[in-house]
Amino acid sequence: MRKVGYIYDPVYLKHDTGEGHPERPERVSTIDSYIDEIKKDLVEIKPRRASAKEITLVHDTYYPQEIMDLCSAGGTYLDPDTRCSIFSYEAAVYAVGAGLEAVDSIMEGKVERVFANVRPPGHHAEFSKAMGFCIFNNVAITARYAQKKGYEKIFIIDFDAHHGNGTQKAFYDDDTVFYFSTHQYPFYPGTGSAEEKGVGKGLGFTYNVPLPAGTGDETYEDIYSMMLPDLVYHFRPDMVLVSAGYDLHIDDPLTHLEVTTEGIGKIVENILKTSDSPFIFMLEGGYNLQALGKSALITVKKMLTV
Ligand SMILES: [Zn+2]
Repeated sequence: MRKVGYIYDPVYLKHDTGEGHPERPERVSTIDSYIDEIKKDLVEIKPRRASAKEITLVHDTYYPQEIMDLCSAGGTYLDPDTRCSIFSYEAAVYAVGAGLEAVDSIMEGKVERVFANVRPPGHHAEFSKAMGFCIFNNVAITARYAQKKGYEKIFIIDFDAHHGNGTQKAFYDDDTVFYFSTHQYPFYPGTGSAEEKGVGKGLGFTYNVPLPAGTGDETYEDIYSMMLPDLVYHFRPDMVLVSAGYDLHIDDPLTHLEVTTEGIGKIVENILKTSDSPFIFMLEGGYNLQALGKSALITVKKMLTV
C-alpha cells in the first residue's frame, strides 16, 4: 500500500457562505466522514497557515491584505457568487497551507501522495480577483511553492466540471507548469476552448479538452487513458497536482456532465498511472454531498492502491 497523507481541519467549516449557498461547510465534513473508514491506512497531516508572502507567489502583493480587511469587516460579496464572512480569510489561508504542508510532507519522505480536503476552492481565483466560490488559488500557489522547494516541473490536472481560468492564467506563458483541463463547455466561466494553448514559451503547455453537456464515463476513459498519458510522459513532471472537483458527477446539481462514481475512480486510476512522481490532490468543486463523499473516498482508495 502507498503512503498517502490526508489533510483536513475544522477551520474549513468556518468559511460561512450564507444560507442556501452550494459551496457550504457540509461539503468537507461529509467527505471527512466518508474517509473515516480508511483513516487507519492514511497519514493524517495538519495544514498550516500560509503567509501573505506565500500567497503572493501567485497573487498581487496587495491582495491578501485586501481580502483580510474585507473579511474582518464582517464579510461581503467578493463577486456575485463568492461571499466572504468574518472567518473566511482564516479558512482560506489554511486551504492554501494544506498544499504547502503537502509539499513539505512529501519532501520529508513522510508520504508519497496527499489528498487535501479543503475549502474554499481555488481554481477560479485570479491574480487580484476572487471568483466562482474561490478566494486564493490553492493549487497554483502550491505549484509555485513546490518549484521553490526544487520540484522544477509541475503538471496540473484539473477534472472539475468548470474550467480553471485562474490556474490557466497563472501559467499561460510558462513552460515549467503544464495545465491540463477537462470541463463542460460552453459553460461557466467561459474560458477553456481547445484553441487556448498558452503563449510565448508557454505555447503548448496549456491543454484544454472542452466537453459538451451529457459527457459520461466512456469519453472520460478515452481522454484519461489515451490522451493524458502521452502529455505527462513527454513533459516529465517532478510533481503532479490535481484540482479534484467532483461536480463532474452525474448527481451534481450545478453541472450537466454524467460521470459516475466508478467513472471518477477510473479517471483517478488513469491519472495515477501517468507518472512515478508525487501526487497532490486538492478539493475544488462538487455540490451533491453524497456524490462528493463517495467520489472522494474512491479517489483516496485508488491513491492507496494504484
Ligand atoms: Zn466546478
